[in-house]
This record gives sequence, C-alpha cells and structure tokens, in this order.
Amino acid sequence: MTSTTMLILGASGDLAKRLLLPGIGSLIAGGDADDLHLLDGLRVVGSGRSDRADEWHDIVAEAFEQVGAEGDAADAILDATRYVRADPTSADDWSSLLDGVDGDLVVYFALPPAIVSKVAGVLEGLDLPEHTVLAVEKPFGDDADSAEALNEALRRVVPEERIHRVDHFLGQRAALAVLATRFNNRLLESAWNADEIERVEIVYDEQLGLEGRAGYYDTAGALRDMLQSHLLQVLAVTACEAPGGFDPAHLRDALASVLAVTQVWSGAPVFPNTDSPSRRARYTAGEVGGKHLPDYTAEDGVDPEHETETLAEIALEVANARWAGVPFVLRSGKAIGDPANEIRVRFRPVRFRPDGQSGDGHPEIVRFGFKPPRIELQFTAGGGSMPFELEPIRMTGELPKTAVTEYGEVVRGVLGDDPTLSIRGDVAVQCWRIVQPVLDAWQRGEVPLDEYAAGSDGPASWS
Ligand code: NDP
Repeated sequence: MTSTTMLILGASGDLAKRLLLPGIGSLIAGGDADDLHLLDGLRVVGSGRSDRADEWHDIVAEAFEQVGAEGDAADAILDATRYVRADPTSADDWSSLLDGVDGDLVVYFALPPAIVSKVAGVLEGLDLPEHTVLAVEKPFGDDADSAEALNEALRRVVPEERIHRVDHFLGQRAALAVLATRFNNRLLESAWNADEIERVEIVYDEQLGLEGRAGYYDTAGALRDMLQSHLLQVLAVTACEAPGGFDPAHLRDALASVLAVTQVWSGAPVFPNTDSPSRRARYTAGEVGGKHLPDYTAEDGVDPEHETETLAEIALEVANARWAGVPFVLRSGKAIGDPANEIRVRFRPVRFRPDGQSGDGHPEIVRFGFKPPRIELQFTAGGGSMPFELEPIRMTGELPKTAVTEYGEVVRGVLGDDPTLSIRGDVAVQCWRIVQPVLDAWQRGEVPLDEYAAGSDGPASWS
C-alpha cells in the first residue's frame, strides 16, 4: 500500500485547527469504508514557523474529539502525526519538511494568500514525490491577472488535475442538494428557468463580527471574502446546465460554462432607492446574539481608510437562454441580528387568477438552507377557512444528518484525487472577472459605504 503524507503548511493557524483537522476527523466519524481506506496509513504533518511541536498532538486529538472521531483509524493517525517547525518560503527548510515522506504527498496551503505564490516558486525547484497534490485555499489571487499568474506558478509544480483550489461551499449540503435535486426532480427540473422563475437570492449572513481576523479581512471585505468565491460557486450549481454526469470533467465544465456567461446585472434596478447593481455597508457598535460588538472601525488592526465593507450585495445576470432577465442577488454580511443563509428561488406569479385578484399573492419560493441543511417549499394553496381562500403553506424537510463536515468533503476530494468539488483554474479567473466592475465602481466611490448597527439586519434604507 502507498502511504500518503498530508503536509499542512500554516498548521498553527485558524483554518487548520478549526476546520481542516476536524474535517479529517469527520471522515473517521461519519465516512464509509472507502473513506477509511483513504485514511489508511495517512501521516498528517503540521508545520509552521512557530514552534508548536509540544502542543501538536493535543491539537489534533482535540479536533478529532470535537467531531467524535475515535477507534483504530483515529489512533493510527494520532500515533503517526508530527509537527515540523519550518518556514515554507525558505527552500532550505524543505529538506526537513520532506524528511520521512516516502509515498504520495499532499501539500495543503493553510497559509495567508499572499504567501502562496512565494511557496509555489520554492516548490518548483524541489524534487517532490512523483504523486504530489497541491491544495490551495481561497482567496485565489486578488484579481484575474494575479489568479492567472498563480495558476501558472502552481502548474509549474504539478499538472492542473492535481491542483485542488478549495472552496468548501461546494461541499456544503445545500449546494450538493441543489445539484442533486434540481436535475432529478421532475417538478423542479421543468420549472428551473426564466419562464417560471422571477429572482434568485443567495444569502449567507452571520452573527459573527471580525473575530480578531483584521489582518486578513480588513483588506478583503465581504465581497472578496464571500461573494467572489463561495457564493459564485453556489450560483454556478444553482444555474448550470445539466452536466453529463457528476464526475470532475462534466461537472466542472458545466460550472465553468455558466460562470463564463455571468456578469453584473444590466437590467432595470434590482435594489430600492438606487440604480446601482451593488450595495455595501459596514457595521457600527451594537448587540448581536447577546454580545456587544464595537464599531468595526474600532476593532484591533482595522484601518478605517480601507473602507472595508462588512455587508455586500450584488446583482448578477446569467446571459443565456435559460436565465436571461432573472436577477441573481448575492448577499453576505457580518454582525447580522437574525441571519439568513439560504438559496432562495422565487417563482413568477401565475398569468391569470380566476378569483379576480391581481398581484402574486404569496409567491412560490423554494429554499435550500445552509444551516441547518434543509429544503423548504413555500407555495400558495387553497383550503383556507373560506371557500377558495388561499393560504401560503410551508413544507420543510431537514436533510439527513451526516457527521462528514464540509472540510471532510474537501479532505475526501484531496486524498481521493477527485477534484470534482474543487475549483478549476479558469473558473478561479472567471470569478474575479465577474466581480471586477463592482470592485472598480466601489474604488471610484460610486457606491456609498452605508452603515448598519451590529445586531440589525442591515441599513434601514436597504429594506
Ligand atoms: P492565518 O492567518 O491563521 O495563518 C495561518 C498560518 O500561516 C499562521 O498561523 C502562520 O503560522 C502562517 N503564516 C503567517 N504568515 C506567514 C508568512 N509570512 N510566511 C509563512 N507562514 C506564515 O490563516 P487561516 O488559518 O485563517 O487561513 C489560512 C487560509 O485559509 C487563508 O488563505 C484563508 O483565506 C483560508 N480560509 C480560512 C478560513 C478560516 O475560517 N480561517 C475559512 C476559509 C478559508 P506560523 O506563524 O507558525 O508560520
């Protein structure tokens, strides 16, 4: 059996501890026999410039405990794991990083984005194991050109099919449910187009504020952090044409095709009180989830001059025969009091109503919820207390629970050499192309930076 080493660069950081290591554990806790086979003989090596060797075993053990990973598979990984203190940008340090690696290698870049291309440059000059896989986190570059340059740097190390540009939203149950449901459900499949659908909203709000991540977030903001990456991938699975199969070649082609024709909305205004297809805002002090949050600009490490938005909304169009004329609204915000997170597909009103009423009454809406993962149908139905009286009915189905987390899906893809749920290089570039006009308009000051109190649902003028 060939053993695999997963070398986590930046293992001392938040991602490794909070998401990646629990993701590995979740495959032990909730995966099937194939997953356990993938983990058989896995050596997890953490590394970073800071010395965490003494704590490392406990960090991995706690991550496993958190997701209920136990038994022989968990013990084997815990026994074999180790930490190497090294600077991944130094070619000299790589001899210690590669020491003891004698099978396949996965290099997981859990590093600040600015460091990734530097490390890729170092890797280019090294003698890596024949089967080396690179897993790179978002944000992938900071515009189309830098994403293309990063693609080239990574492809000088390994071929495209062994580069996993990770977007864990593709492993979210809601995203997987949209893909599986819309093409396999007669009711939805036949209605999934501009003739029937009026508007699509993809919303991912959260109560959390900055949480000490100014170093990254204050130069990114909600648009780059959430919309440009995660929510565009969700748009792609919501809007793509039927792939020939759910395999990497077909699915990634389908996602790339739909993103290639996605652009900033150019139709009639979508948001009230503005002609702009985008809005942005920043939170001020307030109470959220029983916790006081300071004004965003008073958070440690924030530079108010950056004018970083903590809430962003953009309207996009998918310029093809299926979707022309339907706005796709993407929204994500921090410090939102009552956060929604769902894909909301709103149907058009019926053409004629025999009760003589006009308007759409209660529109039909299909929701795919992220947290908890669920599918909800809201539809107009007869059966009110008076004859022919209409009532909106909601039917909600929680998706079956699984112990495998989104990062469990990521790890499954990376170790299994299956890039189905990772981003192809051209798509990473497209995603920057799509949002660039909005970034440019904001840069030119054409869209005001509104304010909202932490704990509210956004600026009052937006509702
Ligand atoms: P951190 O900012 O916590 O950094 C991770 C580690 O990188 C640090 O602990 C540090 O380790 C190392 N590092 C920092 N600067 C340098 C440098 N100049 N040279 C070499 N190593 C450096 O990042 P996160 O863990 O939060 O995120 C990692 C990646 O994952 C980022 O690309 C992020 O965008 C992405 N991501 C993060 C998510 C999250 O929730 N955290 C969610 C989704 C994606 P040391 O000092 O020991 O070297």
